[in-house]
Amino acid sequence: SKTAAILEIESLTVHYGGICALTEVSLSIAEGECITLVGANGAGKTTLLRAISKLVPLSQGVIRFQGQSLQRRSPHELVRLGIAHCPEGRQILAQQRVRDNLLLGAYTRHDPIQVKQDLEQQLTRFPRLRDRQHQLAGTLSGGEQQMLAIARALMSRPRLLLLDEPSLGLAPNLVQDIFTILAELRQQGITILLVEQNAHLALQLGDRAYVLEAGKITLSGTSAELLQDERVKQAYLG
Ligand code: ATP
Repeated sequence: SKTAAILEIESLTVHYGGICALTEVSLSIAEGECITLVGANGAGKTTLLRAISKLVPLSQGVIRFQGQSLQRRSPHELVRLGIAHCPEGRQILAQQRVRDNLLLGAYTRHDPIQVKQDLEQQLTRFPRLRDRQHQLAGTLSGGEQQMLAIARALMSRPRLLLLDEPSLGLAPNLVQDIFTILAELRQQGITILLVEQNAHLALQLGDRAYVLEAGKITLSGTSAELLQDERVKQAYLG
């Protein structure tokens, strides 16, 4: 029996002016899976996440979430459907308090009592954010800002979490903390699409992976298979 796909991408092509950033990319993610996207700088990983979130226009192809094309959906509607994007560079609101950044993650929701409960849950999950909840977000360290970005994405109660380089620029112990949290989210059944330069950790966390090279998928398989693959070892596991 085939598991239902939560996300299906068929023959996706994206251009920036004359540059082709993605060429006929197809992939599929089953409900509850954790998928890793591996690729060098400039391979098109960020563009793929941005295409799913409707932040860049598609030149060709179709993206379906729970069987429905996202073509006519706005970024705002995607959040309501259950897609949360945690972008590279974090993009938290530096001039807002930590707590208000978290509440902004729930802006599409209309269940204030549960939003309050979820806020409590995130502050428990990320004790550093509880301690700093009344500070301006811009005063947080890099690692704390990354945690805030993840916690804010979770405030929308996503079914699919798109994570772009969550460990970028973090000290090794914080990278480990982030991966521990991602493993917990997986356990809770949140589907994860992870872009991560630390291919070793990402492949250890995920179920399956796709390798993106110059805008094309050149390899895919279970994480165990890719961890053993000579090309992957040479290019990404150094
Ligand atoms: P990185 O890890 O460096 O972010 P990436 O795999 O995420 O790399 P993308 O950021 O998706 O790669 O970029 C894919 C290609 O598209 C690159 O050649 C990049 O230079 C180009 N590109 C990305 N954004 C734009 C843009 N706004 N305008 C023009 N070209 C862009």
